[in-house]
Amino acid sequence: MWIVPEAAIADLITPEDSFDAVEAVFAAMDTGRAYNFPVIREAIGHADALYGFKSGFDRDSLAMGLKSGGYWPGNADKGLTNHQSTVILFDADTGRVSAMVGGNLLTALRTAAASAVSIKHLSREDSRVLGMIGAGHQSVFQMRAAVAQRSFDRVVGWNYHPEMLSRLADCAAQLGLPFQEVSLDELGAQADVIISITSSFDPILMDAQVRPGTHIACMGTDTKGKQEVEAALLARASVFTDEVAQSISIGEAQHAIAAGLIGEGDITRIGAVINATHPGRTSGDEITLFDGTGVGLQDLAVAARAVKIARDRGVAIEVAF
Ligand code: NAD
Repeated sequence: MWIVPEAAIADLITPEDSFDAVEAVFAAMDTGRAYNFPVIREAIGHADALYGFKSGFDRDSLAMGLKSGGYWPGNADKGLTNHQSTVILFDADTGRVSAMVGGNLLTALRTAAASAVSIKHLSREDSRVLGMIGAGHQSVFQMRAAVAQRSFDRVVGWNYHPEMLSRLADCAAQLGLPFQEVSLDELGAQADVIISITSSFDPILMDAQVRPGTHIACMGTDTKGKQEVEAALLARASVFTDEVAQSISIGEAQHAIAAGLIGEGDITRIGAVINATHPGRTSGDEITLFDGTGVGLQDLAVAARAVKIARDRGVAIEVAF
């Protein structure tokens, strides 16, 4: 088996590699060639940790395996990242373990790639202003991946903890874009594309704050109870997602579904747009919303890509197992 340690990932896989891997697996999920298994995530009653695994199989790429890990809130005091994950890949022909790959950076890259895929396929081509809601660890990966998709000329941002906004300002400066801290009213009035990436349990962005033509990528809501936008916004928008089953249960759509504002049939897989079996955005006034819940197949896709690059460059560690 091959080992690709966490510390090696940054030099191996680019946001472009991640984008290609995630776009391909979303397309395969839409045709049924790739599928995710039910997610397990539990409070384990030790170290306040949430532990679980996401798993799936892609018959096109033959990626098979799982990402295991979770959230250990006390890790920061130990000099470790609170979110910890590792991807294990198996040979689809024999069931033998084929690789173990550090999953922390890959998680940020594949999550940013998902919203970037939605921006490529759903946002207006003339989008110029990027609105960021959230300034945590994931936010800068999101911004970097988004600006590769459209000719943005500035970034506006809002965060529940305003003292964290310097992270967005620094990232925008590195990308050569002006950044401005704004109110949520201003953000909605100015942004053509909005990314929300927070751990909020209450709606932040209200329906009335969003203007026609906006594309919104809701990326923070990945658990029952979390929420980033007002449920009424999903009734006004055309809603797309990575995985419908997750969107209605742990994604942003859970609230609009529970309130009876939309039904499961109102949510379209982004893979259908990639495969051109759904038109996606059909007018400049349409509001499109991508509910990015995060699926195991994204992790397997980027991990498999990282292993291939590491082997090609001779930096993967081989272990007799
Ligand atoms: P982080 O802890 O680094 O940052 C948290 C962000 O949420 C910050 O912007 C913070 O100000 C904001 N926040 C905290 N409490 C809030 C509240 N009560 N109301 C509004 N905002 C609040 O986290 P991160 O690593 O940047 O991850 C952000 C979110 O993205 C998390 O909820 C995480 O679970 C989720 N996530 C989703 C996916 C996916 O595939 N969809 C993947 C990774 C992470």
